[in-house]
Amino acid sequence: MQPAWNPQKFRSQSSPFSSPDRGQHMQLIIRNASITGVYGTRDIAIDGGHITAIEPHIDGQADREIDAAGNCVSTGFVDSHMHLDKALVLDRYDYAQRETLAAHRITAMTESDKMKRNFTVEDVRQRSVRLARMCVAHGTTTLRSHVDIDTVVGVVDMEGVLAAKEECRGLVDIQISPYAIRGFEGQPQSEPLLRQAVEMGADLIGGVPEADDAPVAHVDRIFALANEYGLDIDFHTDQVSAARPFALPYIAEKTIAEGMQGRVMASHCRALGYVSPEEHKHVIELCARAGVNICVTPFECLHERMALPRQAGVNVSYMSDNIQDAWRAHGNGDMMLLAVFASRLTPFNSNQELDELLDMGTIGAAKSLGFADEVGVAVGKRADLMVLDAASAHEAVLYQARRQWVIKAGRIVAADGKLLEGV
Ligand SMILES: [Zn+2]
Repeated sequence: MQPAWNPQKFRSQSSPFSSPDRGQHMQLIIRNASITGVYGTRDIAIDGGHITAIEPHIDGQADREIDAAGNCVSTGFVDSHMHLDKALVLDRYDYAQRETLAAHRITAMTESDKMKRNFTVEDVRQRSVRLARMCVAHGTTTLRSHVDIDTVVGVVDMEGVLAAKEECRGLVDIQISPYAIRGFEGQPQSEPLLRQAVEMGADLIGGVPEADDAPVAHVDRIFALANEYGLDIDFHTDQVSAARPFALPYIAEKTIAEGMQGRVMASHCRALGYVSPEEHKHVIELCARAGVNICVTPFECLHERMALPRQAGVNVSYMSDNIQDAWRAHGNGDMMLLAVFASRLTPFNSNQELDELLDMGTIGAAKSLGFADEVGVAVGKRADLMVLDAASAHEAVLYQARRQWVIKAGRIVAADGKLLEGV
């Protein structure tokens, strides 16, 4: 069957452009911007959604001009792992119920199922759009959402998030990764539903090896589907210590064997915090060789899951994951808060390391999601930017800086934590 998915559709069309003639009318000029690695301030000219010039001073006029006044201009945040479909449902519990919600996986699954039974496409669409817009207000310009596929919701969540993606076009790019949350063993509907979701318009395919007693077979099945549809892969993996065999080594080996270097993400990887140092070293070297991207929640075991893999050359990003749902009550989509958490829980302390930390939530995450070459504060790149209320990236993390302006494809969409009127 011909898949609906088109591998090129997520990637924006790169338009040929050159520095504008001086005096030309432009979409936006950001004046007096500090840029990491550049001495002195610069003006940034933007037109057609791209950065067209970066110079000490740019003549000419634009539809909008903003003065960064020496503050840092950074690439917008890229939230590499969320669950838009399930988010923002805590208000459906009364307070006593919320008190009994446990973080335990089985309980969360049961609680989540109770919620999911009442989901409709319209409900999923509305919550997804609401959360996506919250993320934009905090500086996120691209995000990846996983979407549950099972016999409880069928493809309702998929349909709702697809509708949200359309509605948010121009505001935030959304990659959709459907995954069979209950695995395949004893779940004959999982594969047909997953195929249906992919063919509805997925950007990639998700897996969750620990949902099955035989994680290797799960991994093999997802790689086979990915090959068939020409899709990248994102595995929820090794979330629970010692509950299942450690899947990450096999994922990395399989990535190399299938020639999919750079196209596979391993999300969570909590077991990296529990395995022996020898096993840890071995698997991280394997991930670096396989170009397996790692994505973590910045709440626990960060030395093993974030710092050591990064030092070994693995591309690591951090993510919101679940927000205000049965799995996790925390969160509002603010990636800067996650960066602050990570800086407190890792050895990322020097100015250079803090700069690197912001990079992991922007360019690093973009690399994981397959479009790093399109973003950055440089001529020719997409104007997906944020102006931080700090003179540098490291100060922005230290001070949890406000996002003064958020710019998507050259359009100012948010200021001081709020979406602009009419956006
Ligand atoms: Zn997740």
